[in-house]
Amino acid sequence: MEIKVGQNILAANDAVAADNRAAFGRSIFAVNLMSSPGAGKTTLLERTIDYLKDRLSLAVIEGDIATSFDADRIRRHGTTAVQINTGGGCHLDAQMVQRALCALDLTDLHLLLIENVGNLVCPAEFDLGEAAKIALVSVTEGDDKPLKYPALFRDARVFLINKIDLLPYTDCDLHRLRSAALSINPGLTVFEVSCRSGAGLQDWFSWLEGETHRWRGRDE
Ligand code: MG
Ligand code: ZN
Repeated sequence: MEIKVGQNILAANDAVAADNRAAFGRSIFAVNLMSSPGAGKTTLLERTIDYLKDRLSLAVIEGDIATSFDADRIRRHGTTAVQINTGGGCHLDAQMVQRALCALDLTDLHLLLIENVGNLVCPAEFDLGEAAKIALVSVTEGDDKPLKYPALFRDARVFLINKIDLLPYTDCDLHRLRSAALSINPGLTVFEVSCRSGAGLQDWFSWLEGETHRWRGRDE
């Protein structure tokens, strides 16, 4: 019985996700960024916005249980941000994103960055209508996370490994972390970055800019 309820919730979510996907069409490249709390999602977005804001038209949807701290941080970088407060909910669903879209001007928007609630579990289950899921893990979380939370990696296009500047202070084995994720999804594009030092970020920026153009039918 409980399984049935879960299936109904996901079916209802998928219907709204399809509406969101239709609203994005091939003009908006929507990205769903997922990680545990404190892995560096918002810092990654701040760095990404600083690089891309003069090259693409972009907007951000921030998902958090409470506060508008993250949307405030994004706005300081000159980008439109809509804050969703889930009021205890541990993931974003398609309906929350649909409501947030009403607060955004989608005309001439190229890239929509959606920061999910910090959680490695259920965000992976809820389609938001995005074109690409991005999984982020920081080296301070340990190299066992992909095998413990495989759903997050199964459908992701990109695996970002953050905080590589802190590697000397952890027991994280970068090779093990990387190969664990690739054993779940060999198609993952992996970037090793430090949002703090800036190391490795240029490759991620180029990927995101290139994929946005490709989505919009403008290969360059
Ligand atoms: Mg955040
Ligand atoms: Zn949840």
